[in-house]
Amino acid sequence: KYHNELVELKGNIRVFCRVRPPIKEDGTGSQADMVVTYDPDDDGLVYISNKGRIQTFDFDRVFSPISTQCQVFDEVSALVTSCIDGFNVCIFAYGQTGSGKTYTMEGPSGDQGINQRALAELFQETADRGDDWHYTIDVSVLEIYNETIRDLLSADNGNKLDVKMKGEGGFHVPGLVTVTVSSQRDVNQVFAEGKKNRATATTNMNEHSSRSHCLLCVTVTGVNRTTSTRSFGRLNLVDLAGSERVSKSGADGTRLKEAQNINKSLSCLGDVIHALRVKQNHIPFRNSKLTYLLQDSLGGDSKTLMIVQVAPVEKNVSETVCSLTFGQRVR
Ligand code: ADP
Ligand code: MG
Repeated sequence: KYHNELVELKGNIRVFCRVRPPIKEDGTGSQADMVVTYDPDDDGLVYISNKGRIQTFDFDRVFSPISTQCQVFDEVSALVTSCIDGFNVCIFAYGQTGSGKTYTMEGPSGDQGINQRALAELFQETADRGDDWHYTIDVSVLEIYNETIRDLLSADNGNKLDVKMKGEGGFHVPGLVTVTVSSQRDVNQVFAEGKKNRATATTNMNEHSSRSHCLLCVTVTGVNRTTSTRSFGRLNLVDLAGSERVSKSGADGTRLKEAQNINKSLSCLGDVIHALRVKQNHIPFRNSKLTYLLQDSLGGDSKTLMIVQVAPVEKNVSETVCSLTFGQRVR
């Protein structure tokens, strides 16, 4: 409860930054190539050296390359469990391809990311509250590619889903597969199924995953054992498409259309969060499939966390500045 009060105090939109460590793909990996530095006295500040100029960005929390998956999850677990209390929550990983989005959300085997840890935490916490309430946890896995929603738990890879709004608010995706999970084993099975279906009809999995948004949607339904009161909360965990800009000259028609769709949906997501932050009257949910699908988890008393992922090296500096600027705008 203490944690959730803390979340309240901080408001409904938070923005973190995570800087991944240098990897061999970066090239030399020498210290001289590192362009990102931190403030030893303030874990909300990050400095970037851009063409000889130092720019400062501030976030609710900055994770440096030495931060562990466990430390990152510690900062999000209160948000995660607030969906048991009926809150709708979205956690997004934003950044260019190769900046660590999938590492943060999925994690390598043996060092799980937010997705697995979130479900483990929900199992634990719902069990702890089991005397008074009975909870059911359901998950769906979907992807948005070129403004088309695809159900990753359906083996029919030609499937395309539509979002329908329900009268009382809330979206409904007719035909979307949802699976009730009650153990880590169930979760592993669902994730494996999602991975398998995502790879079907995809020639280059890496390229494909960098051009599509991948969503793990969790719902937690509670029924009070004595009063039959119901509670309902959603947790949406989103590994966004790569935010890198694509040069018009180099791209062929298909690639250009993909890039435009990604660009549109990421900027629309930024617009929506910004509009919510500054309490605009009109929130442009309808401008992309992603925000349309998530609209009842983005407005009202919903909680949003944006994790801006960046690489630490010189060659990525212009994309890094773009990502940090995006993060700053929604904060
Ligand atoms: P993205 O999903 O944004 O394209 P990835 O998550 O695939 O990026 O990360 C790119 C590479 O960097 C991968 O090899 C990944 O293992 C590595 N990496 C990312 N973040 C970390 C981290 N915090 N610690 C260690 N390696 C990381
Ligand atoms: Mg990825």
